[in-house]
Amino acid sequence: MFPEWTWIIGFWIGAAIGSFLNVVIYRLPRGLSVNEPRHSFCPSCKNRLSWLELVPILSWVVQGGKCRQCGTRVSVRYVVVELINASLWAGIWWMYLSGSHTDGDPVRAVAYMLMSACLVAVVFTDLAYYIIPDQINAWILVIGLVMNLVMILQGRPEAWTWGMPSSVAGALCGVGVLWGIAFLGRLLFRKDAMGHGDIKLARGTGAVLFPLLAFASFGIAVTVGAVIGLGIALGRKSSEEPGEEEALEEQGPESLGSLLRCGLGYLLCIDVIGLVMEGINRSRGNKALPELYQRWFGEDPYDYEGIEEDPKVDLTTIPFGPYLAAGAIAAIFLEQPITVAIRGYLEQFATL
Ligand SMILES: [Zn+2]
Repeated sequence: MFPEWTWIIGFWIGAAIGSFLNVVIYRLPRGLSVNEPRHSFCPSCKNRLSWLELVPILSWVVQGGKCRQCGTRVSVRYVVVELINASLWAGIWWMYLSGSHTDGDPVRAVAYMLMSACLVAVVFTDLAYYIIPDQINAWILVIGLVMNLVMILQGRPEAWTWGMPSSVAGALCGVGVLWGIAFLGRLLFRKDAMGHGDIKLARGTGAVLFPLLAFASFGIAVTVGAVIGLGIALGRKSSEEPGEEEALEEQGPESLGSLLRCGLGYLLCIDVIGLVMEGINRSRGNKALPELYQRWFGEDPYDYEGIEEDPKVDLTTIPFGPYLAAGAIAAIFLEQPITVAIRGYLEQFATL
């Protein structure tokens, strides 16, 4: 489609989107609006940033990682987010738009780029605040559904799986696998095995990746999560502080009834619909539309009870969101070997 060197365009678009992601990562968990105020500001002196200071990556390097007005150090996170997103967009551009991947696939290229941007935001909000904002999970799901709709209109065979749109099939796999892990963990070990944000995230990545790649991405996530989780658990064994574990257990795990009700809610996308309806209510300042989210899940999706800058949680609890994100990104880049391996594996059974 495009010459190979054009990945550099993907890189700079990705970097610019990355600097918007920094705004999302800072504002969403704090309950601040993403588009209001329109301009970016320094979190320390609140000075409005000029357009020169908004040039991704380079401005940070030129200013030596400091705010030009007040001299406060700008967290290295800002440039890291820009670099990661820029690299992902460059990679996807190169694979799916510049001929390295069959003859180019702009529909999937755009969907994969948008999903990776969402996933970068997920990784940083989940690592920093143990939060995966509902809005990001909703956006990922919408990206998958829209991509699938375009594919259906193009009459592509891969748009359908098991007699339903592939994005719906993939979303079902995501809820099935992650909710299944949560349910089994609760049943067998009486522990909260999986956060609800993770279930919603897997629903979204499943919708974008479609079932085959979705399963591969969950497999990668669980494997990497288990290896790193085991390492952390072993490393912490000796230095474990008594008392902390018990304090968390007193709260008790989530009830099975609540888990079932929430699982059904995620299948029906009540969280996404509720988010939109309550968002409309908020922007109009009335309660004209039913508060679906609040009624079903028992919480206000726009209520941010002050995020903790340094949350104290169970030491063995590692947010699973980053692993799910890494698995989904790995699945995008390893699509061909994964497909070949799974097809080969399935053919073995066919020839038996
Ligand atoms: Zn400043």
